[in-house]
Amino acid sequence: MVPDEAAGAPQAFCTVDLDAIRENVAALRGRAGAAELMAVVKADGYGHGLVPAAGAALDGGATSLGVSVLAEAFALRAAGVTVPVFAWLAAPGADFRRAIAEHVDVAAYSVEQLAEISAAAAACGAPAAVHLKADTGMWRGGATRNDWPELVAAARRAERDGLVEVAGVWSHLACADEPGHPGTARQLAAFAEAVDVARRAGLRPRQCHIANSAATLTLPESRFDLVRPGLAIYGLDPLVPGHDVPGPRLRPAMTLAARVAQTKRAPAGVGVSYGHRYTTTRPTTLAVVPLGYADGVPRAVGEQGRVLLSGRIHPVAGRVCMDQFMVDVGDGVVARGDTVVLYGPGDRGEPTALDWAQAAGTIAYEILTRVGSRVERIYRGERSRG
Ligand SMILES: *Cc1c(COP(=O)(O)O)cnc(C)c1O
Repeated sequence: MVPDEAAGAPQAFCTVDLDAIRENVAALRGRAGAAELMAVVKADGYGHGLVPAAGAALDGGATSLGVSVLAEAFALRAAGVTVPVFAWLAAPGADFRRAIAEHVDVAAYSVEQLAEISAAAAACGAPAAVHLKADTGMWRGGATRNDWPELVAAARRAERDGLVEVAGVWSHLACADEPGHPGTARQLAAFAEAVDVARRAGLRPRQCHIANSAATLTLPESRFDLVRPGLAIYGLDPLVPGHDVPGPRLRPAMTLAARVAQTKRAPAGVGVSYGHRYTTTRPTTLAVVPLGYADGVPRAVGEQGRVLLSGRIHPVAGRVCMDQFMVDVGDGVVARGDTVVLYGPGDRGEPTALDWAQAAGTIAYEILTRVGSRVERIYRGERSRG
């Protein structure tokens, strides 16, 4: 999937297969049983584009959208998205009044934050839809077991005052990507207890939710009313290497590619790129690829990086620069303008984002979300939404 070679064609491009997102969401829905699916489209849809990713996920059967910060939720509303949107991370001073006005669900992590949301609701004259966050053992955001009864009681009072409507109770799993990790069972038990405490305090949350991609795929008991997959909707395996994802195959939606800017023959024994960390061992052809760490190509990849170029896999030669890197193609026949694929779905033999993640000592999430704004997104499988 590359654009036609034509004048004005981009020199580096990130192709996004929206049909893959639709099909991945449909497959995940099939695994989620009766639970609804909230598609997580934070961080510009994991680099795939916020609005196109959201549209494809809704086509695939998602019934709501999850984002991190309010600005992402407002961008969805500005694009005409009317389905429920939940934004779960806000520092003090966030624009909760606008969230209420635009029907964006928000999270309350603490009594203080709930008070801030309630004040915004009072100013708006309309209740805020709030999901109370329980910290069930990740020690990230949310109320700990000790603080939970107080948060729940405050939410019940705010509900009686007409300032909030507790739409959900939720949490997040720390170790679901390692199936069998004992921390997950502990968190699920703590979550069930938190839900119970909320109900006994008189709250009636419609949506209890804790499952990310890994839990959606591997832990039926984590699904509750709603699942919140992110990475899997973009087609990447969320489990740590060595664990196979059960069920239907997911298809990576993103392909990162560029056109070779120059090729040249080099003799044996020359040092390539900054620091001369790579030395040619034979006469060889080097290809210059116009993508660098400013575009999200991880500098840490070193020589473990691999690309597909003229039908073969070749290694990255030397350090990745800000805007470009070199590939050692040996005696391969490669011309200026040829398409070099860094990663994609893998069905033409190209590496995947997971391969790049492993080569760079990171996770596929970081590879996808770091593709820079300089790289043009090209969409396949677009449908007119109207
Ligand atoms: C990012 C995120 C998700 C999605 O996680 P994946 O591992 O990508 O499925 C779900 N919930 C919360 C709170 C998140 O921050």
